[in-house]
Amino acid sequence: MSITVQQICDVLPQTQCRECGYDGCRPYATALAAGLESDITKCLPGAQPIANAIAALLNKPQQIVIKQPSHVTALLNVDRCIGCNLCVKVCPVDAIIGELNFEHQVIESDCTGCGLCVPVCPTSCLSLTDRQEDLPSQQSNYAGMARKQARELALREKRVQEYQQTICEKKS
Ligand code: SF4
Ligand code: SF4
Ligand code: SF4
Repeated sequence: MSITVQQICDVLPQTQCRECGYDGCRPYATALAAGLESDITKCLPGAQPIANAIAALLNKPQQIVIKQPSHVTALLNVDRCIGCNLCVKVCPVDAIIGELNFEHQVIESDCTGCGLCVPVCPTSCLSLTDRQEDLPSQQSNYAGMARKQARELALREKRVQEYQQTICEKKS
């Protein structure tokens, strides 16, 4: 029986951190399912349990994961935050909150410590630090992704409505 992308994706942590070298969990799962990727140990947050789960799914021998996942969270220095909102746009799991031009905040319980927000901050107010809480679950990561998608969709719809209204006003 051939293993589907979804079956592999279902065991991945869904942090979308790109530590595997792919643009997210699904692209890594796609490469594994297609036989284009032979290394089943590339998911750093998943570590040994996920590598074992992939081995079982693909009917491959288990491989030892050398690198260990880091137990960190993003830390935001609010004194330097200019509210540009760039970090919110790149966070895959919606772990940063804040409105444009206002101070932002990291929700540690939702932050996977992927570090994708750190390089985009123009004022270098984001860094990674040891975390106190457990890493978020796969369910939490899915929920964050869904929140982000819903917000982006609502924003797009609002822009389309505003554009259509402008066109109507110009015609009248
Ligand atoms: S390293 Fe793991 S959790 Fe991160 S994107 Fe790749 S498959 Fe997903
Ligand atoms: S807040 Fe930063 S480190 Fe935390 S999940 Fe979002 S992008 Fe990754
Ligand atoms: S990218 Fe930096 S300055 Fe911009 S909102 Fe995020 S934390 Fe604040």
